Amino acid sequence: MSNSFSLHGKRGLVVGIANEHSIAYGIAKTIREYGGEVAATYLNEKAERFVRPLAEGLGCPLIMPCDVSKPGELESVFDKLKAAWGTIDYVVHSIAFSPLADLHGRLVDSTAEGFGVAMDISCHSFIRMAKLAEPMMPNGGTMLAMSYYGAEKVIDHYDLMGPVKAALESCVRYLAAELGPNNIRVNCISPGPILTRAASGIKDFDELLTVASSRAPLGRLATPEDVGRLAAFYIGETGNNITGNIGFVDAGYHVRG
Ligand code: NAD
Repeated sequence: MSNSFSLHGKRGLVVGIANEHSIAYGIAKTIREYGGEVAATYLNEKAERFVRPLAEGLGCPLIMPCDVSKPGELESVFDKLKAAWGTIDYVVHSIAFSPLADLHGRLVDSTAEGFGVAMDISCHSFIRMAKLAEPMMPNGGTMLAMSYYGAEKVIDHYDLMGPVKAALESCVRYLAAELGPNNIRVNCISPGPILTRAASGIKDFDELLTVASSRAPLGRLATPEDVGRLAAFYIGETGNNITGNIGFVDAGYHVRG
């Protein structure tokens, strides 16, 4: 390994940029800063207006539509990646969704439909992404998903998303075990609360931010760029022997809770 950290020669996909505040944008920006190449996606036409200029600003050679709930869209993304690059080195899954009615109620009142939608978009889509990425990583690679501490501990107002993130973390461990023999590493990053569009759907999120910064050992909040640096570490040679890991980027909040 060379002395200076670099992602030069690493090519992959980042899903989840909605705007400049998105954790996925912080990750994509950091990967570019370290010399890696990034293909990006946007949810739909409405989102394209915001995502395209950001992705173009990062020099993304591929900017594609991807709503994981629309049959065929994720597959089409991987077809385009294959046509352009043949192989890839990493995928980043930085998406989550729950119908608001289910997110804002108690877990005990959640509907099977709402729970299913949240699970499908926020968790099972990572499995589908892994299945499509595997054949494009003949020499190994890295897969990353975003979780949250609410997977482990009860966080007020996180409700439905807690069990969904717990399932996602479990998927990371099982996928790590299944794909390890192909030298594919599967890890999860668990950022502390960051004010993004998805986060603004959580009730009293401001309160969560205040508590997180005041109780974190480092006394501050994490940023999307902090998350990006850990993502880069996992993707780079630095992460060669790390798989099935949950990496907290929360200024240490999880040790106190
Ligand atoms: P964000 O709103 O910027 O990003 C969420 C993304 O999910 C958006 O780009 C949106 O288009 C995408 N998405 C939703 N439904 C989709 C679908 N059907 N198909 C494809 N994409 C879809 O918010 P964020 O906070 O950057 O969220 C990114 C990830 O980080 C999520 O998994 C979230 O749970 C996780 N996370 C966020 C925080 C936080 O405090 N912001 C903390 C821990 C983990």
